[in-house]
Amino acid sequence: MQIVHGKTGWIEDICCPMFSGKSEELIKRLRRAQIAKRRVQIFKHGSDVRYDATNIVSHSQQTIASRAVTDVRRILELVDDRTELVAIDEAQFFSNDIIDVTNTLANRGKRVIVAGLELDFMGVPFGPMPQLLCCAEYVTKQLAICMTCGDPANFSQRLTQATEQVVVGAADVYEARCRLHFEPPCEETPEDSDSHLAGSTKDNPGTHNQVRG
Ligand code: ADP
Repeated sequence: MQIVHGKTGWIEDICCPMFSGKSEELIKRLRRAQIAKRRVQIFKHGSDVRYDATNIVSHSQQTIASRAVTDVRRILELVDDRTELVAIDEAQFFSNDIIDVTNTLANRGKRVIVAGLELDFMGVPFGPMPQLLCCAEYVTKQLAICMTCGDPANFSQRLTQATEQVVVGAADVYEARCRLHFEPPCEETPEDSDSHLAGSTKDNPGTHNQVRG
């Protein structure tokens, strides 16, 4: 049963690097909707337990209650027919099913806000984010401030040697970097092994990984 009469739904995508204010922007939109007495349901990925197992918490300690899920299709079961706004945070962690889920909700007349990291620690598009961007009616892109030079930062620099795509962390593991100062990790090649002998070591990625640009 369609409860939200006379309105079309739509998708808003907030896609940004870490520390750019993605969570602050999401929380601001949700608070305004709640003040206006809209029916809101908020979800985040279950693996994001940096500050709280369920709440969405910004790096500036703003917080809003949410429900953690790992299978994005579960959201379709959990969303009430009367809900007008559905928010999904940490979209990059979900499977590509999130594209069908967000389109289904928007087609049912709901305002859908999706927030996520667009680039991973290698600087390449993260999970379903590119397709989500294409499906969204509205896209908001914000940048952080490069921790090295103060220029606009579009990249999330991992500060540890971990090579998994998903390593959940905050300022202890990542920092914002601009295009010039972002140093993506690179795989070791035979030539690298030679340079290893010449003094560039795996434990010293500052010399091992060349800064782009
Ligand atoms: P995101 O969700 O994009 O990671 P948050 O909304 O959680 O970002 O946090 C944004 C806040 O992070 C900023 O308002 C600021 O207080 C803080 N912050 C920490 N490092 C930076 C940085 N390098 N550039 C901008 N803001 C930063």
